[in-house]
Amino acid sequence: MDRALLEIVDLHVSVAGKEIIKGMDLQVKQGEVHVIFGPNGSGKSTLLNAVMHLPGYTVDRGEIRVKSQNIAEMTTDEIANLGIGMSFQHPPKIKGVTLRNFLGAINRSEDLDEVIGELSMDTFMERELNVGFSGGELKRAEVLKLYAQSPDLLLIDEPESGVDIENIAIISQAINKILQKETPMKLRERSAIIITHTGHILNYIHTDIGHVFMDGTIVCTGNPQAIMDDIKKGGFSGCTSCIRQQKDQR
Ligand code: ADP
Ligand code: MG
Repeated sequence: MDRALLEIVDLHVSVAGKEIIKGMDLQVKQGEVHVIFGPNGSGKSTLLNAVMHLPGYTVDRGEIRVKSQNIAEMTTDEIANLGIGMSFQHPPKIKGVTLRNFLGAINRSEDLDEVIGELSMDTFMERELNVGFSGGELKRAEVLKLYAQSPDLLLIDEPESGVDIENIAIISQAINKILQKETPMKLRERSAIIITHTGHILNYIHTDIGHVFMDGTIVCTGNPQAIMDDIKKGGFSGCTSCIRQQKDQR
């Protein structure tokens, strides 16, 4: 049951010739939900984009393994087919493709219609994908996409950004359903990395392990709620002084 779905070792990633991820390690085991906190522009989205091999993100050093396979030579669709699904912070708009056609092409779930209802997306099925969608609608469509893909590992980039409280609750409920949160932890097959800037999502989704990501690396790992409480008190700059204290004590 201790199977690692994702292993990241000494990862360095550059974007447009600039090093953004400056050496980091992370392991996500089956059933675990990780949350990554971090200030804007620290490289959180870059991390997820690099794992999916999206164009423009260059792995300069280190290794990413999915289900024990080194993905260095794989294309984005091959990585997705290993069982990784990503919901974007800024989902692309795709003219000419309806939400229905899109979901039809990727669906692997059995009860998609039910979840379309739960996410109140029934009336969006004939619309072009994400075109003219509001903040909350975009995120609901992203989560619906994840549900259809039924991946083993979910990469969820800022599910609550630009979304009102009512929509956060609806989105979180669907994410909890994908993550089999009603099943005992040891029996859960799916894992996730959830990225958050505000931490608001913690009120809705139980996460197991928290990380603070700053200036291109993970600077702290621990209990998600304890980390959140510290960030609320001292901001992310508090994390910096905390690292300094740790270093001074050595
Ligand atoms: P976060 O998600 O933590 O807010 P990002 O990973 O989006 O941070 O961005 C980290 C840095 O990388 C930023 O300075 C951003 O401008 C830069 N960056 C990200 N993507 C690109 C890109 N496609 N082209 C140029 N710079 C980029
Ligand atoms: Mg981001």
